[in-house]
This record gives sequence, structure tokens and C-alpha cells, in this order.
Amino acid sequence: MTATAMRSQCCGEIGIADVGSKVQLCGWVAHRRDHGEHLAFVDLRDHTGIIQCVLDGSVEVRSEWVVRIEGTVRRRPEGTDNPDLATGQVEVSQCEVEVLAEAEAPPFPVDDRVSADEMLRLRHRYVDLRRPRMQANIRLRARVMGALRDSMASQGFCEVETPLLWTPTPEGAREFTVPSRLHKGEFYVLPQSPQLAKQLLMVGGVDRYFQLARCLRDEDLRADRQFEFTQLDLEASFVDQADIQRAVTEAVLAATRAALGDDIDVPGVETFTWREAMERFGTDKPDTRFGIELVDLTAVFESTEVKAFSAPCVKAIVVPGGAVMGRSQLDSLVQQAKSLGAKGLAWFKVISVAPLVVESPLDKFISITERESLVDVSQASPGDLIAVVASDWRTACSVLGQLRLATGRPGIHEGGLRYCWVTEFPMFDGLDEQGRPQAAHHPFTMPHPDDVHLMASDPLSVRSQAYDLVLNGWELGSGSIRVHREDIQRQIFDALGIGFAEAEERFGFLLGAFRYGAPPHGGFAVGVDRLVALLAGEENIREVIAFPKTQSGTDPMTNAPRELAPGVLRDLGLQVIPRNS
Ligand code: ASP
Repeated sequence: MTATAMRSQCCGEIGIADVGSKVQLCGWVAHRRDHGEHLAFVDLRDHTGIIQCVLDGSVEVRSEWVVRIEGTVRRRPEGTDNPDLATGQVEVSQCEVEVLAEAEAPPFPVDDRVSADEMLRLRHRYVDLRRPRMQANIRLRARVMGALRDSMASQGFCEVETPLLWTPTPEGAREFTVPSRLHKGEFYVLPQSPQLAKQLLMVGGVDRYFQLARCLRDEDLRADRQFEFTQLDLEASFVDQADIQRAVTEAVLAATRAALGDDIDVPGVETFTWREAMERFGTDKPDTRFGIELVDLTAVFESTEVKAFSAPCVKAIVVPGGAVMGRSQLDSLVQQAKSLGAKGLAWFKVISVAPLVVESPLDKFISITERESLVDVSQASPGDLIAVVASDWRTACSVLGQLRLATGRPGIHEGGLRYCWVTEFPMFDGLDEQGRPQAAHHPFTMPHPDDVHLMASDPLSVRSQAYDLVLNGWELGSGSIRVHREDIQRQIFDALGIGFAEAEERFGFLLGAFRYGAPPHGGFAVGVDRLVALLAGEENIREVIAFPKTQSGTDPMTNAPRELAPGVLRDLGLQVIPRNS
């Protein structure tokens, strides 16, 4: 299959079965070892692997030269097999070498075992991509994209491309703008997601849409965030939340199998309501690969005399074996809790349970019953440490959620793959300075049917029909059932303080379209870069993107972003304000 006019097969495909055959191979010189004047070993590399070739020492080839080698496959001499190489039992002998391109010495070794400076890797990304790790990641990504596409198509979703030159979308991030040459002084906006376009497709009767969509957000870059990223974006009509969750789960599990093999063991996908996720894991993106769940001690300290515990909510985590922590470790735990927003953190070391002996600076202040219930409710065993935070509910949950990760989170390669759904997110995310609720998702998210009546009177307790998919503590994607009724949409805009004129100005075309017959609809978007990174065991999505940006948003290979020539600026009707003014 890999045979072309220039080669009979690829390097990594050669094995015992080829012994005695003549082969033509093409690739890069990975290593050269000279053994005297007349004997040289050259490791030839292509995207499938490496094969050892035996040459005459007079042949001139150097590292990373591109060559075509013709020779005969033979069994390696007794005792010289290389068990680390897939092709390690054979070699190509009697080689004739044709140099296809010479190469300068590479800026860093093309070898996974040697770590190279990030800037250097990105400046010469084409060399970096030759490394087996990058080759594996790029190909894993292609398998994931292919499986997602196949799965969506087989589930009856229709692939539609939506515009990149667009108008603001309501995802809440800063946007990239593109000046218009034909309409000077006017701008396009690059889409943060195809959100509005896909809703319009539903009005257009497409029924089930998907796209492997490029999205652009001008936000600070992080390990799991680049300016440009790819979403499996989908939307469907006449569905409920469970329909969308089912379709997404099927696609994501198909991609997981395509990436890691059919026999990969993925435990059932659990569902937590947002409230439950916060209560148990202290976060809306729970990493369920490990326990250390939060325990609620509010009832234990309900009528406490201890001031530190008189708060609306008292919660704890039990750190297994944590009783061995010394003073400085405990102090840093307390500091960590404070830096995360807690007033303090109380700790109790469980020394024994019968008789009950607990060590803590607060032990002499709590009552006997409190001590007993503390250990009982938290189900701590001797040798454990109970870390307690007393605060408002949200702070107690989120501080302990982060301490839970800090104390127990497995490494990226450990604990397998644990997907879960988080549902019933709050509709609003607290109040702004003017006391107005802030949308937690985009403003077209449908409120929970049981909570619509609370929209004006108690907006912060309104749940939405929004849901997230989480993998090993990473938010993989989100979606919602949308508002397709004008009366509910107005109530949401009212709650958000978006007046009629503003709504018309920002989303008039969508609201207008809805007047022409909008089906009930909902959708989702899966972050493909994050999914691929997790499946590849990479901590940074840069490792699974062919040409990513640096942390500061630059591309050292092309030198983007860069200044434009004055003529280009003039054509666009732009004038640049000097940097230091
Ligand atoms: N547009 C949303 C996002 O990019 C996903 C969705 O609600 O479908 O997060």
C-alpha cells in the first residue's frame, strides 16, 4: 500500500518475511555509525519507523540527509538483534544509495529521548514533527478526527461548513477581528464557535448538523488553550438533553477506540448534576480517577462553640496516610487553602479510633461528640488526615476541590480514562457590580423547565439545561438545549440586563430568524485538541497541534504576528498607533 514510484515499502514495515527480497526505501538518515573504512551502518527513518542499512564506508551521507536506498533484506548476524526496534531482527545489505537532498545539521536531535528547547522546536517545527512522538500524536489526531466524523455521519448528522468571516458570537471571550478592504472602517469577526450559525441551520431545517470546526478566541494561552482550536461542533432539532448526550458519548467513545484500540477499557460514563459534582468533588469538572471525595460536616458542627467552625458550610477531605505530614507540610496546606480563598484550614490527624485519639491544634476546643462524629462521618482511619474548611458553600467546595487534586491526583498516564457528564449547571454565575446576574453559558441556553418561574425573583437558583463532558478532570466540551421561544428569550435578556435594542443590535439576525419558525433544538461542542492530548497522554495541547503558537501567542517559525507594509495598511484603511503612545 505504501509502495510508490520511488519505494517498494516503508522502513518500519520490513520484517523477517522480507528476508532475501530486494527493497527500495526512502527516508531520512537518523544515525550513522562508521566501522572502519569499508563498513558503515545507517539507520534510515520514515514515518513508520527505522531500519538498519549496511553501506560501504565511502558513501557520503549525513544526519537528516534525504536518501533512497536499494538493497537486500537479510537476517542480522547472530547476537546483533536489536529488541528495541520493531525491525531489529533484520537489516538491508548491499545497499546502493541515492542522495535526494542534503541537509544542514539539525538544530536539535530528532530523537524522543533528547529534550529540546520549546522555542527551538517551534522555530523548526518541520524537524520536530519528524520525531516519533510527534508523528504518533499527529496520526492519533487524524484517527480521532476520522472516527468522530464517521460516527457523526453514521448517526445521521450532516456535515456543514460555516463562515470564518463572521460577526460577534456570544461565547464571552475576546475576539479576533479582520479589517474589511472593501468596506473600510468595518470589520469581520472570527467566530469563537459556530454557535449562531448552527442555530440558524436548525431554523434552516438541516435537522442534524456537525462540523470539525476551527474556532478562534483571543484569550491568554494555557496548557489546554490556544488561540485557534478545533471543536466537534454539533446541533440537532427535536431532541432533548439525553439525545445529545447519547450522540456525543457514542462519537467520543468511537474516537477513543480509534486512538487506543478496540480493547481499551473505558468504564461507563457517569452523570453528576452540577450540585452533586460540587458537593462530592468540589469542582464542575471532576477527576473521577481517584476517591478523596468531599465530606459534609456542617451537621457535625451545627451548634459548635468553636468560632473557626461557625460558618454556613463545613466540609472536609480525608487524606489517606496524611497523618505523617510534618509541620511545614501542614503549614503549606493551610497557606494553600488561604490562597484559594478560605479564611483558614483546620487539620486533624487520626492517631487511633479505639480509643479515639486525634491530634490537632483545635482538638482541645471541640467537644467529645464533635470529635467522634468528625471521625465517624468522614470515615477516616488511623493514619489519615482530615482537612476541614468552614466557609460559604461555594468557597468550601472549591477550596477542598483544589486541595483534593493537589493531594491525590494521578499522573496523566495513570488511572485510565474516566469520562463523566455534568448536568444542570446554574443558569447564572453570580452578580455583576450592578447586581445583575451574569450568564454562565451563552444567553440562548434554555432554563430548567422547573425553574423558569424563578427567573425574575431568584435568578441565582435557576438551573439551566446546560451540560458538560469531562475527561479525567479536563472539561472536554459543553452544550445546552437552546431557547427557541421568544418569550423565554426576553426573560433571559431582561435578567441579564440586555435591553431590546442591544439584543436586536447584537443578535438581531438570529432573533429575526426565530420568527420564521424555529424548531426546538440543542447541541454540543467537544474540544478535539484536549481530547487528543488526553488520549495521547500529553499535558499540553501544543503537542497534538501541528503548528501551534507559543505561550505568548507567537509563531517563531513564520514570525507571526508581524507588522504590515504601509501600502497594505492604506488599502485596509488602517492607521497603527505607535506602540509606546
Ligand atoms: N458554542 C458552545 C461552545 O463553544 C458549545 C455549544 O453550546 O454547543 O462552548
